[in-house]
Amino acid sequence: MRIGVPKEIKNHEYRVGLTPDSVREMIAHGHDVWVETLAGSGIGADDAAYEAVGAKVLATAAEIFDVAEMIVKVKEPQAVERAMLRPDHILFTYLHLAPDAAQTADLVKSGATCIAYETVLGKRGGLPLLAPMSQVAGRLSVIAGAKALEKEAGGSGVLIGGVPGVAPGKVVVLGGGVVGAHAITMALGLGADVTVLDRNVDVMADLSRTFGSSLKTVYSTKASLEQHVLEADIVIGAVLVAGAAAPKLVTADMLKRMKPGSVLVDVAIDQGGCFETSKATTHSDPTYIVDEIVHYCVANMPGAVPRTSTYALNNATLPFALALADKGAEKALLEDPLFLPGLNVHKGQITCEAVAVALGYDY
Ligand code: NAD
Repeated sequence: MRIGVPKEIKNHEYRVGLTPDSVREMIAHGHDVWVETLAGSGIGADDAAYEAVGAKVLATAAEIFDVAEMIVKVKEPQAVERAMLRPDHILFTYLHLAPDAAQTADLVKSGATCIAYETVLGKRGGLPLLAPMSQVAGRLSVIAGAKALEKEAGGSGVLIGGVPGVAPGKVVVLGGGVVGAHAITMALGLGADVTVLDRNVDVMADLSRTFGSSLKTVYSTKASLEQHVLEADIVIGAVLVAGAAAPKLVTADMLKRMKPGSVLVDVAIDQGGCFETSKATTHSDPTYIVDEIVHYCVANMPGAVPRTSTYALNNATLPFALALADKGAEKALLEDPLFLPGLNVHKGQITCEAVAVALGYDY
C-alpha cells in the first residue's frame, strides 16, 4: 500500500504519525511510504532519518495526499487537510468527532474511510490507542496545575508538595481512568494530598490496591463532588464517556464558591471539557482566569513533549497501521472486532453510534 505521513499543522503540534522505526517496519512489509519534509523535525528525526529507512520525502502535504492511499497522522485533519481527502483514502488518526460538527460534516462529505485511534478497543478493555496519550496528559496535568498554582500565574501561591511544617496542596482528580491514574502517580510523587472521585467502584478498588492508603478514593455524587472541589487547590478533570461529549461536572456556580487562586486542569477538553467554564486553549497561551480560578484547558497536551508522545503513540498504533496496510481497511476491520469500532466515518456514513447520537446523524 502507498502510505503518506503529512507534517502536523495544528498549533504547536510537533508529533508525527510514523517514526522512522515505524516507517522501516512498513517498508519491511512491502509498502511504500512518503513523508512530508520536516514532518519529524519536532521529534528530532530529520528528512535524512526517514530517507535512510527507505521513505521518500515530498515538499508539500498536497503531494502526500495525492500519492497516498492511507494517511497516517496524529491530530484530527484541519480544514485544509480535509479538503484534500478523497473517497479512496484511508485516514488513520485521532478524530474526536463528537464535539466537532464541522469536521464531521467534512469527513462525511469526503467519502473517505476514517478510522479514529480513540475508539479502537483493547483485548483487556479500555482504549489502547488513547491510553499512551492519556498517560502523558495525566502526568503533564499535575506539572501544569502546579505551575498554574504559582502566584505569578494567578494562582493562590501554594507549593503542591508543601514543606516540612506546611501542609501540601489538595489535588482532586475527577475520573480515575488512565489520565487519572497517571495524574495520581505524579501528584503523590510530588507529595500532594490526593483524592480521586469516580463512579466505577472497580476502578476505585484497582486504584486503592495500586496506591494504598496514601490515596483517598471517593464515590462521585453531586454532593461528594461539590465538597471536594470546593476544598481543592487543583482539580484535574479526567472523565470520559467513550466517544461522547464530556459531562459538565463543575458548574459556573460552583466555581464562584471555590477557593480563590485554585486551578482547574481540564484534560477532558478534547471531548468538550468537564467544567462549565472551560474553553480550549493552546500551548502558547495555556491558561485564563474566570472568577479568580485559573483554567488550563490545552486540548493537545501531549504535543508539549512530542518525543515521548510520538514514540509511545507509535508503540500502540503500529500493529493496527500494519494490519490496514497489509490487508486493506475492509479486511483488517472486519477480521478484528476490537479494531472495527475504530471506524467512525465510511463512504459518507457515520459508523460510530456515539458520534451519530451526539451530532444528530442517522446510524
Ligand atoms: P478512561 O476511560 O481511562 O477514564 C475515564 C474515567 O472517568 C473512568 O474511570 C470513568 O469511570 C470515569 N467517569 C466517567 N464519568 C464520570 C463521572 N460523571 N464522574 C466521575 N468519574 C467519571 O479515560 P482516559 O484515557 O483517562 O481519558 C480521560 C479524558 O482525557 C478523555 O476525555 C480523553 O479524551 C482526555 N485526554 C485529553 C488529552 C489532552 O491532551 N487534553 C490527552 C489524552 C486524553
